[in-house]
Amino acid sequence: MPALSTSRFLTSVAAAALLACTGSAFAQAVAPTPAHVRPAIDQAYTQLMAAPQIQQLLEAVKADHARSIEDLKLLTEIPAPPFKEQKRAEAFLARLKALGLPDAHIDAEGNVVGLRKGTGGPGGSGPKLLISAHLDTVFPEGTDVTVKERDGRLYAPGISDNTRGLAVLLSWLKVLNDQKVQTVGDLLFVGNVGEEELGNLRGMKHLFAQHKDIDGMVGLEPAPDGTVLVLGTASHRYEVSFKGPGGHSYAAFGQVPSAIHGMGRAIAKIAEVKTPTFPKTTFTVGTVGGGTSVNTIAPSAKMAVDIRSDQMGPLLETEQKILAAIDEAVAEENKRWNVNTLHVEKKLIGDRPGGRTPADSVIVEAATRANAAFGHKTLLTGASTDANVPMSLGIPAIVIGGGGKTGGFHALSEWIDLTDGWKGAQNSLVTVLGLVGVQGLTQPLLEKRAPTAK
Ligand SMILES: [Zn+2]
Repeated sequence: MPALSTSRFLTSVAAAALLACTGSAFAQAVAPTPAHVRPAIDQAYTQLMAAPQIQQLLEAVKADHARSIEDLKLLTEIPAPPFKEQKRAEAFLARLKALGLPDAHIDAEGNVVGLRKGTGGPGGSGPKLLISAHLDTVFPEGTDVTVKERDGRLYAPGISDNTRGLAVLLSWLKVLNDQKVQTVGDLLFVGNVGEEELGNLRGMKHLFAQHKDIDGMVGLEPAPDGTVLVLGTASHRYEVSFKGPGGHSYAAFGQVPSAIHGMGRAIAKIAEVKTPTFPKTTFTVGTVGGGTSVNTIAPSAKMAVDIRSDQMGPLLETEQKILAAIDEAVAEENKRWNVNTLHVEKKLIGDRPGGRTPADSVIVEAATRANAAFGHKTLLTGASTDANVPMSLGIPAIVIGGGGKTGGFHALSEWIDLTDGWKGAQNSLVTVLGLVGVQGLTQPLLEKRAPTAK
């Protein structure tokens, strides 16, 4: 019986990959909050908050709160494990269509996409802002996703991360349409696939490859009021398999290399790799396994390696050092026994690009000013989320909360307390409206990106 059970190994790799959008990552400041914002941004939000049309819109968000919770329950109870988001996507699409985006559709990757055109303003074309929440959850098929109400909280796996985000997008669409609020820029409503685990941001990668005209992104995730995510840590993950002939520990000694010894050499070299403190760049051999018995020269061994950085350059440099260390280790193990029979296979199992939205960018200052209008001090944070993709492309992107107190992400005990949750939905909607501008009230703050050369 092999000591290395494949299914157990894969489970531990999957567990190591569960770092998509953990709540704890939202708690730490990664940059100082902007002390003041550009006068144009300040003025835009002052005008928005003073406008009767916007005050009515915000009242409508509050009035829609109870109905929105019904959407939340409906969508939460449709399982959406990674790569199996389709049923929830269809339900979200149906709601988008019913609430006023009849042309919404599911794209080739499985994302639900619906465009709410802006007026374009005097120039005829405003910016296009992607507003999104991910459809997928970390929970495997068969998980009980029934919503249970207890002590003022709603409990269900995935209810806050990120079904609440989906429900908030639907509520925004409804109130914008009911109140006939026209934006200047376009709003691209998206419920995307592939945020969690080994989804590797496939939904966002596809969207940004298909829609070259997106000028910015505001993602919704469970986060305390005032939180603005500006940093997307990049990661690459490898499953590394060492394979040799194996043999009896006594009889074959001297004739065959050991997969475990080869892996041990590799780990010793990896442990010595140097990385910069800033941008923070990290690595670890997260899991190991291998061998068949104590008196067998191991024919196989496997390890999972996680490499992260707040910038792509140092990530790739560290990755090169680690991959080279593995090759050197295999060569040394073969040389030790004067053979050539130990081989290694390095499989990329996690691939998340990353980047940072500058604290003094328009999108961050806009969110900061909108938060101030709702009485919240802004905290700039980082994590690995859908926003990693636009950040890696240099497209302004932030992730903010949609309202409600949340906890227990990625655990079966996940919950949300939506007492006054509409306030967060108002706050984030105002952030968005300032960025795209409101017809008759404000010009878009978000700039159209220069068209790509050629
Ligand atoms: Zn999430």
